[in-house]
Amino acid sequence: MKTFPLTLNQIQTLATQFPTPFHLYDETAIRDNARRLTRAFSILPDFREFFAVKATPNPFLLRILASEGFGADCSSLAELRLCEAVGITGERIMFTSNETPDEEFRVARDLGAIINLDDITHMDALIAATGSLPKTLCFRYNPGPLKAGNAIIGKPEEAKYGLTREQLFEAYARARDLDVQTFGLHTMVVSNELDEQYHIETARMLFELAVELHQRLGIRLSFVNTGGGIGIPYRPEQKGVDYDTIARGVRQQYDAIIVPAGLDPLSCNMECGRAITGPYGWLVTRAIRRKETYRSYIGVDASMANLMRPGIYGAYHHITVLGKETAPATRTYDIVGSLCENSDKFAIQRQLPEIEMGDWLVIHDTGAHGHAMGYNYNGKLRSAELLLRPDGTVVQIRRAETLADLFATLDLKAAATFQ
Ligand SMILES: *Cc1c(COP(=O)(O)O)cnc(C)c1O
Repeated sequence: MKTFPLTLNQIQTLATQFPTPFHLYDETAIRDNARRLTRAFSILPDFREFFAVKATPNPFLLRILASEGFGADCSSLAELRLCEAVGITGERIMFTSNETPDEEFRVARDLGAIINLDDITHMDALIAATGSLPKTLCFRYNPGPLKAGNAIIGKPEEAKYGLTREQLFEAYARARDLDVQTFGLHTMVVSNELDEQYHIETARMLFELAVELHQRLGIRLSFVNTGGGIGIPYRPEQKGVDYDTIARGVRQQYDAIIVPAGLDPLSCNMECGRAITGPYGWLVTRAIRRKETYRSYIGVDASMANLMRPGIYGAYHHITVLGKETAPATRTYDIVGSLCENSDKFAIQRQLPEIEMGDWLVIHDTGAHGHAMGYNYNGKLRSAELLLRPDGTVVQIRRAETLADLFATLDLKAAATFQ
């Protein structure tokens, strides 16, 4: 059963202050989940989660997660600057970028971030951009056909990320010769994966590589980072991942591979996004139009501008009609936004209770890769983000965009007299 932390009455009151649509996040649930994850993985040496900022790039949420001991995984200039602004710097930032512009390398170095290179040529690019290699360097491994990916991320050999196995050995040898002191190894081979075994296998792959790097090059890694990709149960019938199962499985692999090779302690890190905030955010929208043609449509005041996953991936997001949680699902609807784009649908042929105009629809699991992916097609504006605090108050942590924001990069006066 999917839950929502506010009642219909509370939402009605809230909407007098913050018009729909908006994303709402639950601070208590985010903190509880962060603590569960940290507790489970504390059986690994010096474990740290670096929250993938791109999932929900809101500085208030970054502060909450930092206070729970998380670092940040950045992949762009904006994400680096957001972290800097809220006091996340140094080795609390993992900079996992690709096709990295020079300026981003420079900013990452200035902030003291751990730099994770996506390609063997990026060592020279980093030297050219910043004058040297940092003392700590990490490489992103792409296992190619050696490892099966999953449906969402695709096959590793078709992914643009990371170094091949051969390149990896060459890169570490060269980095060692160029006086890099501290080494990390990273990979990211699955996305939204609910099978705990996948995540354990990923760790095993990196542990085996750590041993091989030591045997062949005499390099002793300081950390491995298994990336993100822990899935969440978007569908009510799915079962969430058990952190303890993954952590214990990884620990077993560690004890079987790292310890006998004399490479203990080796820090183990992750950079999950979706699993950290995904289930604890909701897009709240209202039914504004009903349409009966070949299908029954309910038009809502949110659109793909606020949540793209259903439109671009056909992703399932559960929908609850507030106040009708226990009403029988007697109707079949397409729940749609107002973009001139037929993929602007939050649900297709979904069984729901009878919906009346003005009803409040809660779209679940929008706390990661939700607001963040929004765009301005058709001139649609991105919504506010609200935070439900532990004391029950709701604060706005990002205001809604206005037309003035949208037009800020245009000179409308000049355009009006342009010939
Ligand atoms: C997107 C991304 C993540 C986070 O992925 P989730 O599926 O949200 O856990 C972590 N690391 C890298 C390099 C990514 O690109």
